[in-house]
Amino acid sequence: MSGHDDHHGHATDDPSHPHNAPLSDVQLRVRALESLLVEKGLIDPAALDELIDQYETKVGPRNGAQVVARAWADPDFKSRLLQNATDTLAELGLIGRQGENMVVLENTPTIHNMVVCTLCSCYPWPLLGLPPVWYKSAPYRSRAVIDPRGVLRDFGVNLPEEVEVRVWDSTADLRYLVLPMRPDGSEGMSQEELAALVTRDAMIGTGVVKVPEAAQ
Ligand code: FE
Repeated sequence: MSGHDDHHGHATDDPSHPHNAPLSDVQLRVRALESLLVEKGLIDPAALDELIDQYETKVGPRNGAQVVARAWADPDFKSRLLQNATDTLAELGLIGRQGENMVVLENTPTIHNMVVCTLCSCYPWPLLGLPPVWYKSAPYRSRAVIDPRGVLRDFGVNLPEEVEVRVWDSTADLRYLVLPMRPDGSEGMSQEELAALVTRDAMIGTGVVKVPEAAQ
């Protein structure tokens, strides 16, 4: 991929690039097309937002959720995933643009991992789809490092004091996926049922997994 010549390598990262890189040719074309289609009344910007939301929150993160569910269900897969995420994910075809080199971070009762890209919006696309707007925002990018517990509280995640919060800074060369803890009450669930518990934010480390019905 391109972009390895600068320090962080985001020259082609994404359309809402907050640092001062000029828009690429493709980005300019996309924007020109969007405004033309809206102007001609051919698309509704709200419908477009909804489509993007589909990829951000529904289609995209399901790949990651399947990986997490399999890791919960299959200890051998989990240990391979933690040792060499890139090769293990490649076996499943879950490697590609914006996810060439992957590291999986395991949450434990004493360690909570959280992922940010302090310089822009590096994100594991093959596993999570498109990054949410807040992930790309300046406040998240700076506060995740300065005050991770405050950010987690804003997301409704209150961790006990004894849990260590580790913040990982993504780059174009290295992307992270958080492996959340398997929740109590999920014993005996199928891999599909387990995957349904895994939220996108749990895999970024800003959220938790859903509570199984058996534990409610
Ligand atoms: Fe980045």
